Amino acid sequence: MPVPAEGPQPAVLDTAFFRRWLERATEVIEREADRLTELDSPIGDADHGANMRRGFTSGAAVVRTDPYPAPGALLKAFGNHLTSTVGGAAGPLYGTVMRRAGRTMGDAETITPEQLGDALAAAVAGVRRLGDSAPGDKTMVDALTPASEAYTAALGSGAGLTDALAAAARAADEGAVATVPMLARRGRASYLGERSIGHQDPGATSSALLINALYATAAEAPAPRAGQATATGREEAPAEAPSAPAAQGTDGPGGAATGPESRQDRDAPRRDERVGVVLVAHSREVAAATADLARALVGTGDPAPIGTAGGREDGGVGTSSALVEAAVKQVDNGRGVVVLCDMGSAVLTVKALLAESGAHALPSEVRIADAPFVEGAVAVLVTASTGADIDVVMTAADDARAYRKI
Ligand code: ADP
Ligand code: MG
Repeated sequence: MPVPAEGPQPAVLDTAFFRRWLERATEVIEREADRLTELDSPIGDADHGANMRRGFTSGAAVVRTDPYPAPGALLKAFGNHLTSTVGGAAGPLYGTVMRRAGRTMGDAETITPEQLGDALAAAVAGVRRLGDSAPGDKTMVDALTPASEAYTAALGSGAGLTDALAAAARAADEGAVATVPMLARRGRASYLGERSIGHQDPGATSSALLINALYATAAEAPAPRAGQATATGREEAPAEAPSAPAAQGTDGPGGAATGPESRQDRDAPRRDERVGVVLVAHSREVAAATADLARALVGTGDPAPIGTAGGREDGGVGTSSALVEAAVKQVDNGRGVVVLCDMGSAVLTVKALLAESGAHALPSEVRIADAPFVEGAVAVLVTASTGADIDVVMTAADDARAYRKI
């Protein structure tokens, strides 16, 4: 439980401070992973601790070796890493927390307590927007929102950085505990309805751990005062985000079916100018089998480019923004790409990627189709294969959604 700081409190925070925070947060997540997974078992799929450990442990290794010119660059890189590796809904959500905070900090080499407050508020707003969630929905927002508000209120009443973070940590802890009697309205726990009542939300709990780690980092050692930023590799260029992996089983230009060696390309050496389709599923097999089914139902035998991003990069169940990005780039011909997702984290991952498309520079217009996965995949691919433009392809997805089965 945070106690008021006794010594001088940091006046500004540099890259080294945020690096120490991420290291500490990673240690805490590693230590508490089993508890987070236990919390995710009665109201989720028992993977939150494993998801967080995977993302933070590998992310910490990345930021340990790469120099970053400013706190903002460090947090953005860490956020991109989380969206690619965590696998569950927490990936795009915490990825957004880090990227939003990083973007708000801009290129500043040191961050004032007020700027940290702005970054926290922007991070919370980003999560709420991406997850369409509000306080009371029994999610991480129930810990993050009071933490951000308590921090700003404490600063406003004259507290120093460490004391304001202590107030934030207390508010986050209380916010996490307050999720116990709530009925879940977002995320996997919402599938349980009334049965979600009586359990603490795993994401609110991990958020409280991260805010407590931020407080502990400030309390442990005062950061340099204004004008005394430590060297953080500023002279070197920020490391590039890890390059996107090769697309999975994609039938785009260069892909298996229409690659340079295929019969189609030899006979008609023109670029495929149709809308591309990407299927994003939690499982590699589901994505691949759905793509096969959709291809088989294209009557002409000449399907538009279709790519898949199924499962995580290591083959496990989940979603990876890096795989989505690779698949989109692979099927894009400049006419737009329609993405179909299965559940929760797949949708959040794609939305987060689109929101950040400035950073990732997706090649052309990318839209998410709101339709059931299998029916939507068939409808979208069949329509795209006719050469229809992206608006028409999206209408086909709407038709697939509206089709009643009883
Ligand atoms: P998944 O639910 O995909 O298995 P995790 O178990 O890693 O992902 O993360 C679950 C946590 O994510 C939940 O406890 C909740 O706090 C958070 N979460 C899920 N969906 C949302 C949402 N729409 N908005 C805010 N937070 C969410
Ligand atoms: Mg889970």
